[in-house]
Amino acid sequence: MALQTIVVGAGLAGLSAAYELVLAGQEVQVFEARERLGGRVHTVQLSAGQYGDLGAEFVDDCHTALINYAAKFNLKLDPACQFPDDLYWYVDGMLKTQESFSGEQQTALKSLSEKLQLLVEKQLAPQQTLDEWLEKNQLAPFAKWVARLSARSLFATDPELIGIRFFTYSNTLGTSGYNMRIRGGSSRLVDALAKVLGERVHTKSPVRRIQQIENNLVSVSVETVNGLVEAQANSVIIAIPWSILRQIPIIAPLTDSQQAAISQLPYGSLVKTLLQYPYRFWSKPNFGITLLDAEYQVVWEPSFAQMGAERILSCFSGGSRSIELSENAVELAIATVRYMYPEAPPILTSRSYDWNADEWAKGAYCYFKPGDLARFNPHLMQRAGQIFFAGEHTAPVEYRGYMEGAIRSGQRAAQQVLEFVK
Ligand SMILES: Cc1cc2nc3c(=O)[nH]c(=O)nc-3n(C[C@H](O)[C@H](O)[C@H](O)COP(=O)(O)OP(=O)(O)OC[C@H]3O[C@@H](n4cnc5c(N)ncnc54)[C@H](O)[C@@H]3O)c2cc1C
Repeated sequence: MALQTIVVGAGLAGLSAAYELVLAGQEVQVFEARERLGGRVHTVQLSAGQYGDLGAEFVDDCHTALINYAAKFNLKLDPACQFPDDLYWYVDGMLKTQESFSGEQQTALKSLSEKLQLLVEKQLAPQQTLDEWLEKNQLAPFAKWVARLSARSLFATDPELIGIRFFTYSNTLGTSGYNMRIRGGSSRLVDALAKVLGERVHTKSPVRRIQQIENNLVSVSVETVNGLVEAQANSVIIAIPWSILRQIPIIAPLTDSQQAAISQLPYGSLVKTLLQYPYRFWSKPNFGITLLDAEYQVVWEPSFAQMGAERILSCFSGGSRSIELSENAVELAIATVRYMYPEAPPILTSRSYDWNADEWAKGAYCYFKPGDLARFNPHLMQRAGQIFFAGEHTAPVEYRGYMEGAIRSGQRAAQQVLEFVK
């Protein structure tokens, strides 16, 4: 007998979709390739009872779908950073806040921000990469430096690749500048959703082929310990990154635009390294978020609200630099911290993860090249017959690359399925 819905992928998008369908009384099965759930949400334990996130971590105050789930599952949100107060820049061998920039630097930043804002307000979408746009607009060297650093540190890609229109979304995030973390780590939300779904979720079950067949059914080939098994359902929600989907045969009424988007949507590269130190060695109470132009471009302290004298620093490297450093990721993270804080003691322990090398992610999150936002956007969340799509890349554009986007996309895909079966 056919199932009502199969969900492919148990990241936050797939789990949210399955959860909403179960609440609506639908019969659902979820197939996940890995042994663990959560995909790009991956909390790990360090020593002394502390934890860190190798994947998603920050929750902005405008991420209401996540905040609502957290309230529903009784998960606590700890304060993380308040911008601009907690934002530091390591420039010319010194830590600076926006306030301590020179007059010239402040003018350069103001001009960058106004020019980006103008693109948003006038809905302009020049067919240029960030780098091309910076050159064309003759921005001051400091403004260019900041913008290029933002491409690497926020979008995990290079300024020569990201389209200027997609980059402007960093300017319009709609947050009041306050962000949080899920107490216990982001995987606590994954665990809460998985608990409701129970035995409907199957790990170590990669999907190898998806085919719309006759009788209004979709057939999914799942690799199990007993070989390939065919599972059939009235509808299928595909909630995996398209960096992976493009390797899986899909026989379905996909439009040319959908096929182009599946095969071409690019993903950034990202290495995240957690360093645990025996004690705090910086003077400010909250380490905040420090941006710098080195192998790693962002360093912050995820252990701010955790018990114990030990402190963790999280180091983030995005774009092509992350690919270059991945073999010596821990050593280079230690060197990056020492570059700013020569007095840093030896670490207690570390964990590092290269998302570009991850078999089931093959990248950090999606970004858009010049022109691709207009070309792909209308097609990312459209169904193809009885096949529906979820995942951060199919979320409203301002939530792409966030847990919020994954959750919203899962909720939307569940709603599409419910409307379809009505
Ligand atoms: C290092 C890093 C830092 C981040 N930081 C933040 C942050 O601070 N805040 C924030 O909000 N977001 C952050 N994000 C983004 C956030 O992690 C993602 O947007 C979100 O988790 C994506 O969820 P998803 O369900 O769309 O995809 P995924 O989490 O990738 O889930 C897809 C699932 O599908 C599985 N899968 C793949 N192929 C198959 C197959 N063939 N068969 C079955 N299963 C398959 C995968 O194993 C995975 O479990 C970060 C991401 C990274 C990588």
